Amino acid sequence: MCSEKKYVYSFEEGSLELKSLLGGKGANLGEMTSLGLPVPPGMTVTTEACNLYYESGEQLPEFSREEIRSYLTELEEKMDKSFGDDNNPLLLSVRSGAVISMPGMMDTILNLGLNDQSVKGLAKETGDEKFAYDCYRRFIQMFGEVVLDVEAYKFSRKLDSLKEEVGAETDIDLTVDHLKELIDKFKLIVKEEAEVDFPQDPMEQLITAVEAVFGSWNNKRAIVYRDAHDIDHELGTAVNIQSMVFGNMGQDSGTGVVFTRNPSTGENKLYGEYLLNAQGEDIVAGIRTPEDIQTFKDSLPEVYEQLVEVTETLEKHYKDMQDIEFTVEKGKLYLLQTRTGKRTAKSAIKIAADMAEEGLIDQDQALLRVEPEHIEKVLHRQIDPEAETEVIAKGLPASPGAAAGTVVFSADEAEKIAENGEKVVLVSLETTPEDIHGVLAAEGVLTTRGGMTSHAAVVARGMGKPCVCGCDEIKIDFEAGEFTVGGQTVKEGERITINGGTGEVILGKVKMTEAKLSQECKDILQWADDRRDLQVRTNADNGTDASKAFEFGAEGIGLCRTEHMFMAADRVPIVQRLILSESDQEKRDALTELEPIQCQDFEEIFAEMEGRAVTVRLLDPPLHEFLPNLPELIEEVTELRVKGEKEKLKEKENLLRKVKNMDESNPMLGFRGCRLGVIIPEIYEMQARALFKAAIKLATEEDTKTELEIMIPLVSELAEFEILRERIEEIADQLLTEANLELDYKVGTMIELPRACMTADQIAQKADFFSFGTNDLTQTTFGFSRDDAEGKFLHEYLEREVIEDNPFITLDAAGVGKLVNLAAKSGRQANPDLKVGICGEHGGEPRSIALCQEYGLDYVSCSPYRVPVARLAAAQAKIKKS
Ligand code: PEP
Ligand code: MG
Repeated sequence: MCSEKKYVYSFEEGSLELKSLLGGKGANLGEMTSLGLPVPPGMTVTTEACNLYYESGEQLPEFSREEIRSYLTELEEKMDKSFGDDNNPLLLSVRSGAVISMPGMMDTILNLGLNDQSVKGLAKETGDEKFAYDCYRRFIQMFGEVVLDVEAYKFSRKLDSLKEEVGAETDIDLTVDHLKELIDKFKLIVKEEAEVDFPQDPMEQLITAVEAVFGSWNNKRAIVYRDAHDIDHELGTAVNIQSMVFGNMGQDSGTGVVFTRNPSTGENKLYGEYLLNAQGEDIVAGIRTPEDIQTFKDSLPEVYEQLVEVTETLEKHYKDMQDIEFTVEKGKLYLLQTRTGKRTAKSAIKIAADMAEEGLIDQDQALLRVEPEHIEKVLHRQIDPEAETEVIAKGLPASPGAAAGTVVFSADEAEKIAENGEKVVLVSLETTPEDIHGVLAAEGVLTTRGGMTSHAAVVARGMGKPCVCGCDEIKIDFEAGEFTVGGQTVKEGERITINGGTGEVILGKVKMTEAKLSQECKDILQWADDRRDLQVRTNADNGTDASKAFEFGAEGIGLCRTEHMFMAADRVPIVQRLILSESDQEKRDALTELEPIQCQDFEEIFAEMEGRAVTVRLLDPPLHEFLPNLPELIEEVTELRVKGEKEKLKEKENLLRKVKNMDESNPMLGFRGCRLGVIIPEIYEMQARALFKAAIKLATEEDTKTELEIMIPLVSELAEFEILRERIEEIADQLLTEANLELDYKVGTMIELPRACMTADQIAQKADFFSFGTNDLTQTTFGFSRDDAEGKFLHEYLEREVIEDNPFITLDAAGVGKLVNLAAKSGRQANPDLKVGICGEHGGEPRSIALCQEYGLDYVSCSPYRVPVARLAAAQAKIKKS
């Protein structure tokens, strides 16, 4: 087999446009090379080669090996070094680089090209024998683990026992002879475990390393990560082969990771860490705790200046915050990688707003940079400043927000306990990509080692989970299942709280508060408001929710569910009397008692909304929901029968008879919504009177005219709507005439049944507005019971990919959405003044909001905390459409 296709690109040939072929890292290395920045030369083997590797039975075909060899010759010429040479050897790093960054999930090999000969060359060239042999032992270890599948602990155990034997405290204390001895021992491990000699041919090392990195695309942690982040498993990774530079060549060498802005807070200041005399892996693995980059100017001032300059160049070029890896070899700066920096929600919002203010990007770009979830996250909990806290330790504030839970010491345990619905905090020395499932399951993560760019910090930030890192005062005793700090012992299963914003570790579960919106967030939301077409309303049933939503920017109420007003403890007895009434008089009495209470509820809400539109839905659920539970009642009656309490028994038997009468096998499709209104008109009449009385009171006493919209639920037939509209109008006429007041009001309907969608043109002739109740519409279109489907089979459907998304969360564009679109269009054709909105749960979900924009709806309505999310999502939908 041979190929015309190109599978390898030198960095000079690479650029951002080729990202899907070269992966993020490869494309950026190409881009940086073109910008003239100091990047060690190399090549990228493409994502297509990765797929080829899998298609060819997990090996590279000969023609692509040949391509790598020929690029290698070029690289040798460029570097004036030769591969495997015992004089001036070329050494390489081999790293994965997917199109969408998957930090730490795949494998890396450093110092490739070292063998028994070239190690001597490296020693000669650097004049540092210890350094050369240290590189060689690291290489055997990494190659052994990644390529030859030798378990890591076999090497580390050998290293530890040698250190103990010779009395070396750290790796640095080992002598050349110790290292040579270790190399022999490591080779022996390879021979025993992998049953091969450690390969001395550098070309063989390279090809097998590339293959192993391609193979790591499908390791368990990478698969879990892709599942968690919705990344396509078919994409494949690219592999970058790059000439090595060394950060461990003395005190004028080092390595570090910097972000052009603070990834936690968004502050516009270089942020990051470095270690002198170290290789990149030392930082990422969190084994030595690195120094703050701000002190780098004291260690290597000239290099620091140059670093600041290149980071500025990169941020200006990419117009986004960059996460940059660098190495300094004997005073010379090299950039190993740049990528768009992962950031917390708070930081994403600040950076987007600041960059727009600085003119680096425009407002539309800023709006697209912030994800709706970011807005959701900044609305998240913090520790109540008033709360009494017992701080037992302090680590690095790695990812903001507060989390409380029971202490667990392993990722597996975290996953197991969280599955039972318990909240856990994962406490660990450090996390590795292997622990990803535990981080996912935990509320927050606390590590005793590692810095702000360690694995735990990066992953937790990406997930928006609170994280405290490098809390080295805490000593974990895994065997005893406890940790100690300052004389205190915390056992597995006890509760702690962590504050990822301050780094504090607190004993017990503490009180938390809801978050406030920052000024930058308010700016972003203001720009979103300027941009969007869709109005954003809220679903609120009381003054408190209405006030919260108003504060979050709701432009009105799109759904006030009045049944919630019937369910308060003081009202239930009256409602029960109403339902169980045996005479008209009894019914009238109960309604007379309820009316002023309802009226007061409405007054409160109208006052909060200060004249904005308020859509009030008349009673929807079946009446038996307000009555005692049938099985419990049967039990009570049986007990009374046994006890022979005649008087009470008679009363309960009477109640039981009525409850049984009202019992339905399928209440969701039963006597509810407008059907109640048609058959027992007195309830809706009472509600209409309460509504108009409240609106009249506010208009006359407070001079606030509410835009009242009365909504009739569950209409499927025009006649239902007509009957009820007529009654409402009669009541309105009477009350407004008595009050001598003119008040515009609307009467509309929920569209939540397929038949209503199909007859929307008829209903629209009589209705002033439609509000899509997509919860019921999803239920009735799919025939999935909204009470049962999610608990019974829907998660299996999702797992087995029978359906792609949960239709109760994301509007089903192909079915339910199509009905919404059709009904909105035919309704508007019949009545051009028809106002159309959505008030099902989908009204606060970004992808569904984009569909609402596509269908040209007038507004979305959602719960108060989702209002800011919806404001941004609506603007994004508009920008993307145009
Ligand atoms: C709906 O069905 O989408 C709706 C908003 O009404 P409810 O959830 O109260 O049935
Ligand atoms: Mg409904």
